[in-house]
Amino acid sequence: MEYGDDLKYTDKEFLQWKKVFARWKQKRPKNLDEGFTSAHDSVFNVVDCLNCANCCKTTSPIFRDVDIKRISKRLRMSEMQFESSYLRVDEDRDKVLKTSPCAFLQPDNKCGIYEDRPLACREYPHTNRKRMYQILDLTLKNTEICPAVVRIVKAVTKETI
Ligand code: SF4
Ligand code: SF4
Repeated sequence: MEYGDDLKYTDKEFLQWKKVFARWKQKRPKNLDEGFTSAHDSVFNVVDCLNCANCCKTTSPIFRDVDIKRISKRLRMSEMQFESSYLRVDEDRDKVLKTSPCAFLQPDNKCGIYEDRPLACREYPHTNRKRMYQILDLTLKNTEICPAVVRIVKAVTKETI
């Protein structure tokens, strides 16, 4: 799938997803996590992130201290050097990338520090985790970034719209 194919949706669809998620926050459906995991697995069977990389181009992961330690070691830099070269502290006091696209994104959309990338990159777009009801707002927001999330949200809300 090329990036952009499924990123398109109407305002009406977005409002419908928003309403369904609001309902799910009030009354948690049984098997919500299972529904998301199953949709996540089917979608990522066909989505090739190397044709997209929109998350790496437009958002920043949070860098935890253990991420910083691991990556700076790989780059043979001190943690302080790494932080001053690549990171800033955002309004939530999280350490995030200074620049976007990510400085480690390669021209072929591969990650230059793949084996040591932050946990947040490994787990993005967070659609196969437990207690999905806690991150429904974030998931809705991620429909603006990730075409896979658009497909996943379409699949999980299909029966209820
Ligand atoms: S996780 Fe989503 S936004 Fe990131 S590369 Fe894959 S499809 Fe694209
Ligand atoms: S560290 Fe790698 S996976 Fe994470 S945003 Fe940068 S290029 Fe993408």
